[in-house]
Amino acid sequence: MTAARNRRGAPGRPNAAAVWRRIIGFTRHFHMTQDSEDLSATAVLTRELVRRASVTPHDAGCQDILAQRLCAIGFDVERLPFGEVANFWARRGRGGPLFAFAGHTDVVPAGPEADWSVAPFAATIRDGLLYGRGAADMKGSLAAMVTACERFVARRPDHDGSIAFLVTSDEEGDAVDGTRRVMAHLQARGETIDWCLVGEPSSDVALGDTVKNGRRGSLTGNLRVHGKAGHVAYPHLADNPIHRAAALIEALCSAHWDEGNEDFPPTTFQVSNVAAGTGVGNVIPAYADILFNLRFSPESSTHTLKTRVDELCRRHGLNYRLEWTLFGEPFRTPRGRLLSAVRAAIREVTRRETRLSTAGGTSDGRFIAPGGVQVVELGPVNATIHKIDEHVSLADLEQLSLIYERVLDELLTAEHATLEFAAHPD
Ligand SMILES: [Zn+2]
Repeated sequence: MTAARNRRGAPGRPNAAAVWRRIIGFTRHFHMTQDSEDLSATAVLTRELVRRASVTPHDAGCQDILAQRLCAIGFDVERLPFGEVANFWARRGRGGPLFAFAGHTDVVPAGPEADWSVAPFAATIRDGLLYGRGAADMKGSLAAMVTACERFVARRPDHDGSIAFLVTSDEEGDAVDGTRRVMAHLQARGETIDWCLVGEPSSDVALGDTVKNGRRGSLTGNLRVHGKAGHVAYPHLADNPIHRAAALIEALCSAHWDEGNEDFPPTTFQVSNVAAGTGVGNVIPAYADILFNLRFSPESSTHTLKTRVDELCRRHGLNYRLEWTLFGEPFRTPRGRLLSAVRAAIREVTRRETRLSTAGGTSDGRFIAPGGVQVVELGPVNATIHKIDEHVSLADLEQLSLIYERVLDELLTAEHATLEFAAHPD
């Protein structure tokens, strides 16, 4: 397969038909044989990464492999370890615009190995699927990014702008010493990303059917409602904090926070824990604790949400203490060059129209987007991530690498910009 895909020395971009022929050629070839030497460069690299058991926050040498490959094609690699977390920033080119691939080498634990039908870090290939913890989330994406760059740089050694990689081993864990720290480091020296493609497994049923163009914010409140302890038989001598909290919860649950917008559903409120009581049946407790979370759209700010909760507490005459934890501000990438490029690339390679989504939990995109970076998440099908027998389709990996390569063509080659984006100004 290597020879067929190696277009070194063939400048210019392949047309859609050529891309399509390559995919069909790969698929046919793939079904004929699965011998190691016939695997694509992306599959081989994915397998190499999966075989390193990089359970968060450990990297287990994955970043060495990636850095070495990127160095070989002209990237300057800067290691940025913080605490026990391995990170690197790699850049090829000095000028703007700056397009960055972002991803993580850490994986969640495999869980009980006996439940797997294959060893979780053996990277077994069966029926066109590569199995292993991290195969879909997101070592396959990292491999596809690297091979996409290798082909693109071979064709376009003098591409416009710069390409970068922001890779961390702390996405699945605390996410304190990873992307957040690398972004602060870049910001401190005035290095700004224009476009960022995060390789999180965004696809729903088929590769490229969904990309994330944002994520909701997440704000958690830890509320203690104070009352006055007493005997249940003498309620006039006590003040029941559970009764007071119940009325407040009722009000919070029926509150209308915002309407959402075309990209985001309205903000939602959920109580996740309520605790009160001494464990006996005849005592009114002194306080009640309520833990709740708001998943919020950009139509609400943390300030307005906090103010409204405070107002409701006061309106209910509560004596309370409220602590907040912000897990991420919402971000949204508006329709513009990055989204157009990603959609065009998906259409060309998979012939699918992609759907934009802001659903799901948080991702490292929340640390990259503040400051106006356009961020899109595009990766493999997420059906098996964090589960027993996690796997990724080898045909999908091949297509994903082609999609990433096409995105580079769309964004970092001048003739493309004028041809395809004249009608889509930012
Ligand atoms: Zn992930």
